[in-house]
Amino acid sequence: MRIYNTLTHDTDPLPPAPGPIRMYFCGPTVYRRVHIGNARPFVISAWLRRWLRETGYDVTLVENITDVNDKIYEAAPGHSAELAARAAAWYIEDTDRLGLGRPDFEPRATETVGQQIALIEELFGRGLAYEAEGDVYFRVGKFPEYGRLSGQRPDQVQEQEPNARKEDPRDFALWKGHKPGEDTWWDSPWGRGRPGWHIECSAMAEMFLGPVFEIHGGGLDLIFPHHENELAQSRGAGREFAKIWMHNGMLEMGGADMHKSLGNDVSLHAALNAWGPETLLLFFMGAHWHSSIDFSDSALESARAQAGRFREAFGGPGVAAPEGEWEQLVAVLDDDFNTAEALALLHKWRSAGYLDLLRRALAVFGLESLTLQREAPPDVVALAERRQAARVAKDFAQSDRLRAEIDEAGWEVRDTAGAFRLVPRE
Ligand SMILES: [Zn+2]
Repeated sequence: MRIYNTLTHDTDPLPPAPGPIRMYFCGPTVYRRVHIGNARPFVISAWLRRWLRETGYDVTLVENITDVNDKIYEAAPGHSAELAARAAAWYIEDTDRLGLGRPDFEPRATETVGQQIALIEELFGRGLAYEAEGDVYFRVGKFPEYGRLSGQRPDQVQEQEPNARKEDPRDFALWKGHKPGEDTWWDSPWGRGRPGWHIECSAMAEMFLGPVFEIHGGGLDLIFPHHENELAQSRGAGREFAKIWMHNGMLEMGGADMHKSLGNDVSLHAALNAWGPETLLLFFMGAHWHSSIDFSDSALESARAQAGRFREAFGGPGVAAPEGEWEQLVAVLDDDFNTAEALALLHKWRSAGYLDLLRRALAVFGLESLTLQREAPPDVVALAERRQAARVAKDFAQSDRLRAEIDEAGWEVRDTAGAFRLVPRE
């Protein structure tokens, strides 16, 4: 299998199965419900893990939660820890609804501060860190590779985190001294404070995956400065660190990047309520992971219609597939994990009636539910709609009676936020 690598500008091979394949994906900073753009790396990493396991690899996926950060302090002055805990729970609740399982490890930045401090001390030992009024900075000028990941010449790197305490405008914070009003802090050799965002990921990746690992992922917007800085810290401390850097394209809305700061973001929670997990997954699957993707009603309507076509196919009889069909899926996914081509192939199998192959392939993408459902008859749907209305009116006795009637008709009603799903009973 080959994956496009931002660092080498090439599709680089993975080692042969069983690997291991160790993957670290940057997770969200938790201070509100995550937006649908944050769901994309979560989905891509979960699919990639499922596909690699399907093809015989031993895979470990780590996806962190950043729960200490300026954004969190700003969003809840004096109560940042409570907000971070609540928002982390929302993130887990919302991503659980995608039905793709959890990463193998989901470390929180605040639980690994000891490892982060130890790594900063190593950087001091190598002359790559210096202290300035309670802050600690990375000395970019001492790391000749700096700028390679983001394609910048070392002498022309953009300034980051401007302030007069730094030796060089390119330097970035490893540790930030405590400021009044910040309610979360740790003691360190440099006084009270908290880690910089970048050192958190360098430390967590190494803690769970070791000093070298196969894939580091995240959104394209993380290449600079976040990943450039992670790379500088870890390579600067003598680790090989990530071999392949996998950056997914951004979600757009009406041609502009979806971003919290632009106010055009849609929460994953709201998107799941509006469209359900199958439609969202098919929406993501229809684009190559490195392309940007427009979150438009028409694109989602199309994904929803596709979900319906897959469901319908399982209402009819299947046909045995000829030898070698599965290999076509292997070919497109092993070529830079092209899910868009895989989806086209799945529709071809659907038209041909290759239901066994289709069932197996849909399961890789967390879409098993499409293979289980047949359409509920109209009288059962009507019962479920009456029950939904009773629930909204908080008439739970009536809602329970209607559930029993639906049960007797051979269907199970499952509540999803603001809606329901009818599943045939075994
Ligand atoms: Zn990160």
